[in-house]
Amino acid sequence: MLDLLGRPLRDLRISVTDRCNLRCTYCMPAEVFGPDYAFLPRAELLSFEEIERLARAFVSLGVRKLRITGGEPTLRRDLPTLIAALAAIPDVEDVAMTTNGLLLPRVAADLRAAGLKRVTVSIDSLDPEVFGRMNGLGTHPQKVMDGIEAALTAGLGVKVNTVVQRGVNDAGLRELWLALRELAPVRFIEFMDVGNHNGWNLDSVVPSREVLARLGGEAGAGHFQPVRADYRGEVASRYADPTGREVGLISSVTAPFCGDCSRARISAVGVLYTCLFASGGTDLRAALRGGASDAALRDLIAGVWAGRNDRYSEERGEATAALRPKVEMSHIGG
Ligand code: SAM
Repeated sequence: MLDLLGRPLRDLRISVTDRCNLRCTYCMPAEVFGPDYAFLPRAELLSFEEIERLARAFVSLGVRKLRITGGEPTLRRDLPTLIAALAAIPDVEDVAMTTNGLLLPRVAADLRAAGLKRVTVSIDSLDPEVFGRMNGLGTHPQKVMDGIEAALTAGLGVKVNTVVQRGVNDAGLRELWLALRELAPVRFIEFMDVGNHNGWNLDSVVPSREVLARLGGEAGAGHFQPVRADYRGEVASRYADPTGREVGLISSVTAPFCGDCSRARISAVGVLYTCLFASGGTDLRAALRGGASDAALRDLIAGVWAGRNDRYSEERGEATAALRPKVEMSHIGG
């Protein structure tokens, strides 16, 4: 299964809810997602059975890694039941989840027991004031740290994601890395122009090479040695300090990796997107609820992938690309 640019289908990201218990200014700003915001009614969301059926179709087409996301996936009731169903699909090599970590103290052990292997926990600053402002609700970073501890105690692999915004959290990057590097590898992500509400502009992006220089302190970027990628399509460029502790840099803006992108994404209502920056997608829920057979579902997905030619991050600089409306991050899940 190759798309028009020769890219295989290997990873599937599944959003299980559009709700979140944070209001990060760059993702679900409180002015837009306020108390009156109409989140999706339950019946609109894919059921666990529908998600499993889709996952099986994707796996039959080459997907090997599944990642659960949202919104905030831990808000979806009975999530371990879904994880267990996905982990039991033959040929699935990895089931992971991206989370803000707040509910992990409650759910990490059950998720691990159900077959979840890894979590990526998002935290943008350890400074209570900065983090509280960025998450839109004043939530203290210690709550996320408690979630990281709970995940580690439950035996989950943990990585940390930090989105870097110039003038917002870039002053505390070295402090964050020094505090977290004993616990988990940190990946610093260049702030992206996903969605239509986060006020993105190029000046708010701190290029990864500048992040590395800041992490190195006095020694600058020279403090680090590059680490060879483990597999084709690995999105983070990894570097190690002289003691071998690693940091990852995801240069989605300054060094786009569209050429290696093997990811498909399904929103909580079952729309298939072939790019994080897509304007539209394919309604798989309509097919599911319209009685499509397994073979018909598979053909539908295969047809979409075969026609895929998205490479938005490489086209970002072009006027027409920048003007296109984009799907919201809370809808598609990152
Ligand atoms: N709620 C979960 C979480 O916080 O990880 C999962 C969903 S969240 C949309 C997934 C990831 O996307 C988070 O690590 C978040 O920081 C990242 N993200 C959201 N908006 C972003 C943006 N504009 N640029 C870069 N990363 C972004």
